[in-house]
Parts: sequence; C-alpha cells; structure tokens
Amino acid sequence: MDSVTREMKVLISASAIQLTFGFPKIRLSYFRNILVFPDVYFSPSNMAHHKGEVNPKFKAVVLSWKHFVEGYLHEDGRNLGLHEMAHALRLENKIMNEEYNFLDSAILKDWELRANHTMKEIDEGRESFFREYGAANREEFFAVAVENFFERPSEFSKKHLLTYKTLSQLLKQDPLLLEKP
Ligand SMILES: [Zn+2]
Repeated sequence: MDSVTREMKVLISASAIQLTFGFPKIRLSYFRNILVFPDVYFSPSNMAHHKGEVNPKFKAVVLSWKHFVEGYLHEDGRNLGLHEMAHALRLENKIMNEEYNFLDSAILKDWELRANHTMKEIDEGRESFFREYGAANREEFFAVAVENFFERPSEFSKKHLLTYKTLSQLLKQDPLLLEKP
C-alpha cells in the first residue's frame, strides 16, 4: 500500500456513516484527519503497537487498513472501523462545537447504567457475549457494544435485550430491521 485509494476513502467514510445513520446532520466534524497505516503501527503516545486509535489532540482517527478490512470480512463482533468511529462519536458529542450534545442525555444516562452493570458482569466472569476488553472502561464498553450492535444484532438482542434497545434508541437506528426480508 503506497497511497490512500478512493476505495479506502469510501469504505472508511461508510463506516462513519453506518454509525451516524440516525443523525443525518452529524459528520464527526471535529476530526479533520484520517490517518491510514498499511498494518499495525507504533504509537509514540503510549509507546505501543496499535491497530487504531482516536487522537483528539491531533483531531485524528487512525486506522490499520489491514485490520479495518478484516473487521468487515467476519461478522464476529469485531470491527475496527466501527470501534474507532464509536470513540469519535462519543468525543464529538462532548466537544463544544456545532455538533455538541446530539446524543439524548436521558438515554445516555440509561446507557451508562446498563454499561456499568454489564462491565461488572464481565469483570466477575459472568458474561460471555462481550469480550473482556469491553470492561476496560466506559468508552471501551461503548465501542465494543457498537461493534456487536452492527455485526451480531440478533445475538446481542437475545442475550442483552435492554442494552440492545437502549443502544438502538441512543443511535436512532436498529440493524435488526435490516435482517428481516
Ligand atoms: Zn477502543
């Protein structure tokens, strides 16, 4: 990979649109830069190798192209593009600009309660649907939940119906409707 192709731009934009589909006016406008690496890259911010990150200081979403593509190849609840866009969405909601505070605060409160509950279950080893990384903190739980919301909506709603419904209300869309003929 020598340069960022048109296909890459379209697919990365599509992952942002997939997440913000319920908010036609939201464009994650704070993030001015999308950095694409061919594979994992070394990040000086914490001296570690990364597949992706959102860096508010540099107004950047950073992605490994290899892992971005893998995310869409398998419907296994892992999707790097959606994961990083989910981080960007929460930050965009908090940053005071023209796209500030678009997530419904009452639903967001419900979401945090559900998140705390499930993170505790993950910590205690009583949870098998969400991967362990989701318990790292609230931001990671949201990003992991978003991955599963789009990749495995039917299993998600069967195992955690209220959490699924709350996320669906928060994002103003329901991927389960797309599965029905
Ligand atoms: Zn993350």
